[in-house]
Amino acid sequence: MIPGIYIHIPFCLSKCGYCDFYSVTEAGKIPLFTTSLIREMEMYRGVFDRFDTIYLGGGTPSLLGADQTGQLLDALHRTFLFFDDTEVTIEANPGDLSPEMASSLYTAGIGRISIGVQSFDDGTLALLGRRHSATEAITAIENARRAGFGNVGLDLIYGVPGQNIRSWLETIHTALSFAPEHLSCYQLTLEPSTPLGLRYRSGEIVPPDDALLCEFFMKTSETLEAAGYVHYEVSNFARGDEWMSRHNRKYWDHTPYLGLGPAAHSFSGNRRWWNHRCLDRYIEEVGRKVSPIGGSEMLTGEQLRLESLYLGLRTKRGVDLDEFAHRYGCDLLHEKGELLRTMQREDLITITGNHLRPTRAGLLLSDSLPLL
Ligand code: SF4
Repeated sequence: MIPGIYIHIPFCLSKCGYCDFYSVTEAGKIPLFTTSLIREMEMYRGVFDRFDTIYLGGGTPSLLGADQTGQLLDALHRTFLFFDDTEVTIEANPGDLSPEMASSLYTAGIGRISIGVQSFDDGTLALLGRRHSATEAITAIENARRAGFGNVGLDLIYGVPGQNIRSWLETIHTALSFAPEHLSCYQLTLEPSTPLGLRYRSGEIVPPDDALLCEFFMKTSETLEAAGYVHYEVSNFARGDEWMSRHNRKYWDHTPYLGLGPAAHSFSGNRRWWNHRCLDRYIEEVGRKVSPIGGSEMLTGEQLRLESLYLGLRTKRGVDLDEFAHRYGCDLLHEKGELLRTMQREDLITITGNHLRPTRAGLLLSDSLPLL
């Protein structure tokens, strides 16, 4: 299990109406943050073996600019060991991806770019509070391709108030016209503390009902699989196995990962830990050479087992029953045989040889599967 590195870049130009991620709009603090990040890297020197993924997420990593991104990548390579074929991903907002910026990121050694398109419908983008238009999203994709990116991912959102299946499928077909290597299609969650969540609670906006949300999910999966994409996780699609996100798969099978930056999470062995969700505190503590860890938990064998099952059933790979028995000392077919046969009859899972896999309907319902 080769570990990966996640770096949380907690800056955005403004907050989108649905966003619950940790980010601030104080771009003036970027230089200090970059220095702190490099100091935090030092705290983990020698702790992990060689890594094979780097993921710059946020927030808006593309706000760092090419110079600071290059500085960060240099510092990572000075501090840690990496395999030659390390997958390096950056999340980018369409508004930041000028031809020059796209070229600089590519030249800095980033091979995979995940563009936060969200929709090709201007009305939907406005409701979400995004800063870009559909035209700017298209220009950003073209700029990424011209810069040399051969691994482009697009993030899209469905289940937005006012959106219907027809307008969503138009967004999907526009996305497909760029033949992206990867697509993430997330269902909008209206978190109570966000501006959109508040508008929902006041009755001002009405999200699609459960039946329509199911239809969004099933149509998305059918349309993308018909176009040759592999539906390899609830929200993720790849244009072939080689384009699946190597980094994100680590989150789903208990591979270790190191998270750096405020609010970043890490995992290793049976321990999970996370940094303070506050940029100022992060900068202040790292400046004093104090670890910015805000909390941690040790997972019991039972928690690891349940989590592994839950995460496995959210992926096309599913659960290897022999491996599961070896790792967690649990023969699922024996202990949960009745339940699994019911799920099989209801077409939620398939069991072939020693493999348990969710069907498309099973993926749709995977959030209820921890009840196992
Ligand atoms: S750009 Fe992304 S991280 Fe920033 S506010 Fe919008 S959704 Fe949140």
